[in-house]
Amino acid sequence: MFRKGLIIVVCGPSGVGKGTLLSEVLDSSENMRFSVSATTRAPREGEIEGVDYFFKTHAEFEKMINDDELVEWVKYVDNYYGTPGKPIEASISSGTDIVLDIEVEGAQHIKKKYPDSVLIFIFPPSLEELKKRIEKRGTENVGEIEKRLIRAKVELSYVKKYDYVVINDDKGEAINEIKSIILSEKLKVERNSDLIEKFN
Ligand code: 5GP
Repeated sequence: MFRKGLIIVVCGPSGVGKGTLLSEVLDSSENMRFSVSATTRAPREGEIEGVDYFFKTHAEFEKMINDDELVEWVKYVDNYYGTPGKPIEASISSGTDIVLDIEVEGAQHIKKKYPDSVLIFIFPPSLEELKKRIEKRGTENVGEIEKRLIRAKVELSYVKKYDYVVINDDKGEAINEIKSIILSEKLKVERNSDLIEKFN
């Protein structure tokens, strides 16, 4: 029986560790891909064009908006970020699950457009720990860290809008929790499709 690809949206404030959790979940999952966003932010050391992001100038990004290439986009701490639409549609229709690492406003847009998408919110153990993790990453200056922390407080207030919340205290446990959420959602979709087929 054919099952459509699942859209899994993972949110959480900057520094919470989404990237690390997701790369481990992706590495150990079959038939799942990562949605590569477009951004005007400068690449961080080690980030690869087309793998981590599609790095764009402001003019290029605005062209993508005007050409309707993005299913959602936001301005986040002085830069644009957006999700290209074609890979999402291609994944759903080919039965490949797709994971999005995006912020809260974008997640709401996705849920509205794709009501079957699964929203997972990653929470830090505390705000102090979040600050420590951003500082330890060492990729932002003091002003940017401050802006990201202010934004983090706003993002954390969106928690009620999520289907699932995972606290990233112990990395291994958080990874297992995310995997079991995805597995149970897949089983749910399969069971529902079976029932629809049976009673049609
Ligand atoms: P960073 O600069 O740390 O890579 O990302 C900053 C924030 O932007 C993160 O919360 C990340 O999840 C979010 N983000 C990345 N890509 C997108 C996107 O395509 N759309 C939206 N709405 N947020 C994104």
